[in-house]
Amino acid sequence: MNAQAEDPLLPGCLYVVATPIGNLGDLSPRALKVLESVHAICAEDTRNTAQLLAHFGVSTPLKALHEHNETRIAAELIAQLQAGRTLALVSDAGTPLVSDPGYALVDAARQAGLNVQAVPGPCAVTAALSIAGLPTDEFLFAGFLPARPAARRARLQVLAQEPRTWVFYEAPHRIAECATDLAEVLGSTRLVFLARELSKRFEQSVRLPATELPAWIAADANRLRGEFVLAVAGAPARSEAGTLDARSLLRALLQELPPARAARLAASLTGEKRQTLYQWALEWSGTKPEF
Ligand code: SAM
Repeated sequence: MNAQAEDPLLPGCLYVVATPIGNLGDLSPRALKVLESVHAICAEDTRNTAQLLAHFGVSTPLKALHEHNETRIAAELIAQLQAGRTLALVSDAGTPLVSDPGYALVDAARQAGLNVQAVPGPCAVTAALSIAGLPTDEFLFAGFLPARPAARRARLQVLAQEPRTWVFYEAPHRIAECATDLAEVLGSTRLVFLARELSKRFEQSVRLPATELPAWIAADANRLRGEFVLAVAGAPARSEAGTLDARSLLRALLQELPPARAARLAASLTGEKRQTLYQWALEWSGTKPEF
């Protein structure tokens, strides 16, 4: 570690600055120093960032950079950097580019051979993973799941096979139906972790079997509010005996085969009871028995 907080800014450098995801106390001294020292700050929503800057008494000029104008104004910003000006890039909260704008600008800066430096800090993904108690030596970040129910369920079916811990963002108006889908796709043996309002006054987090998540959310209307991150334990691809995980395999087979055939095949490959698998297959596919 070295104390570089007081270092002067590098001419022509783009600083990608993480800002708080709730608690303003999480803005780092270095982030503050950079924000007050650069020539301009590129912000996803200038009104939002103006409030943050006002709180810290920073009066650096703001420039809007959002998903609708990013590609168009990147060239202008690159020209400013090439002229030796310093710029900061921030999003509404957390780390820019993580499900937030900034990719086009950073990519353009790299292509132009410009200096790009991170000013690391809050990020909802890493904050959630750091308290979930799920394996994080490797993980998959899935961004936001599709909004449409059929597409979301299809995505969850694929993610359910993922052996690493996976983590994603979800909007409050979809959290209840997402929990129902997770319960249905993952069953009672997979752990899910939900964090809401991280670093804020009503922060809450819970880790429980996927099948228990819908009831946990329904138990208190406040649990539908705020901002959410979910993490899911990776699929046990093979049991200790070396056999395939029956539920995961059945899920995959049901993409291609009718319930009875999928159950028969999964039973012969895993040693699980055919009738049990057949019942699951019927529940998941919503079809009637084929007797
Ligand atoms: N770039 C941001 C980051 O580094 O976390 C994420 C931006 S993304 C548009 C916003 C989503 O992040 C929210 O919808 C929510 O899912 C998650 N999020 C942001 N702040 C959060 C918080 N304090 N608690 C829980 N989730 C949060």
